Amino acid sequence: MPDVTESDLIVLGAGPGGYAAAFLAADKGMKVTLIDAAEKPGGTCLHVGCIPSKALLHAAKLITDARDGEQWGIHFTKPKVDLAALRAQGNKIVDTLAKNLLELCKRRKVELVKARAVFADSQTLELDSGSRRRFKHCIIAIGSSPTIPAALKLDSLRAMDSTGALRLEEIPATLLVVGGGYIGLELGYVYAALGSKVTVVEMTDGLLPGVDRDLVRPLQNRLEPLFQKIHLSTKVAKLAEAGKGIRVNLEGAEVTEKEATFDRVLIAVGRRPNSGGLGLEKTKVQLDEKGFIKVNEQRRTADERIFAIGDIAGEPMLAHKATHEGKVAVEAIAGEPAAFDARAIPAVVFTDPEIAWCGLTETEARRDKHEVKVARFPWLASGRAATLARTEGLTKLVLDAESDRVLGVGIVGAGAGELIGEAVLAVEMSASARDLSLIIHPHPTLTETLGEAAEAIYGTATHLLRVRK
Ligand code: NAD
Repeated sequence: MPDVTESDLIVLGAGPGGYAAAFLAADKGMKVTLIDAAEKPGGTCLHVGCIPSKALLHAAKLITDARDGEQWGIHFTKPKVDLAALRAQGNKIVDTLAKNLLELCKRRKVELVKARAVFADSQTLELDSGSRRRFKHCIIAIGSSPTIPAALKLDSLRAMDSTGALRLEEIPATLLVVGGGYIGLELGYVYAALGSKVTVVEMTDGLLPGVDRDLVRPLQNRLEPLFQKIHLSTKVAKLAEAGKGIRVNLEGAEVTEKEATFDRVLIAVGRRPNSGGLGLEKTKVQLDEKGFIKVNEQRRTADERIFAIGDIAGEPMLAHKATHEGKVAVEAIAGEPAAFDARAIPAVVFTDPEIAWCGLTETEARRDKHEVKVARFPWLASGRAATLARTEGLTKLVLDAESDRVLGVGIVGAGAGELIGEAVLAVEMSASARDLSLIIHPHPTLTETLGEAAEAIYGTATHLLRVRK
């Protein structure tokens, strides 16, 4: 048998879950090995997800903000987009962050190994380099991949998943986006701002299924003129290569043109966990019916030495949930009392306007017959929103009907993703609407909308008229 190196902890996957776990474990004095098949650490989030998409979204917003300048009497000429320079700027950001991660690995003495690993048994991994690695504990953090249903599989450079779309090979004259979820709307917005005629096809009867409708409406109102068409309750029955484009067959009660050709198609209909081909059958690790690894509140699998975190360990598939789980798993491995018991995992859709929410949504509260009060503050009444000419926003609180405790918060509007931080704190600290109403928010800022939404419950919101009974 070849030499086998042993680590206290092997972390499989160097994304935001994996590297956070590896760094904390090293800080606690463990001998840590971080294994990833990719050239550089950072995972999907850094290389083909959150970071490059947010860089492109920033560029897209520069374009739409410049267009909005008209209403301020500021007129820009039509922007000229230098695609190579735009790509280079995105790459520079990603490269810098990857370099920083490498440095953090080095300084913490985390051994970084570039390899694909499969389990040989409950304590051993086999690397594609031929070597074997033993561990006292292992954390699986190898994420998820885009789902491409059989009807949408097409071997063509014009049919892209999110990774392909982020490469920004060209600005197609026409783009079909299949899926009106996070990725479809974020990248659809980017391509539309850059000049593509974007059509979105969403299978359900609304964009961003699951998100409260009053939060989605202002976004949809702004996307409708930006996009060529949004088809709801519509499915793509077939994709086929057609000369210089892709011919698409659409199915849906309201679709008038059942067949259309697009220069490119982006398929963004969800992601699935990367749990296949990992040799998990050689361990006691169990999967659920969707392929997620089953874990307990410490993120321990059915195999006591093996933990799983992030997208592979269940929904929501969000980087910050992975990071938090990674830290919980390491604390559990270190023998500390630890559990993943977040009340509020924030979610942000980085379109313009942004949508952000945390904790209980109004939709969930109504579905589960939870006794709640909902407090709303429309941004039409916000001075700060007026100065931005962005009064379409809304801040709402979902409160326990009896105690007024803040159970959830939803925000749509400019910068909602930043505003949700205070809401997460309120939910996690069991703040009540009274607490939020008694905090002095700085004026003029959009944070005031949280305070005034809370005051609306007590009829003391300065900028809302009290409803007389
Ligand atoms: P998603 O689940 O957000 O959206 C997929 C959408 O596609 C849904 O609206 C669904 O109804 C629709 N759909 C499914 N099958 C379809 C079909 N055949 N035809 C038309 N529509 C169909 O998934 P996503 O946008 O692919 O993103 C995947 C995951 O990545 C998200 O769930 C999220 O966890 C993560 N993500 C997060 C962010 C963020 O935090 N800002 C951004 C991008 C991705």
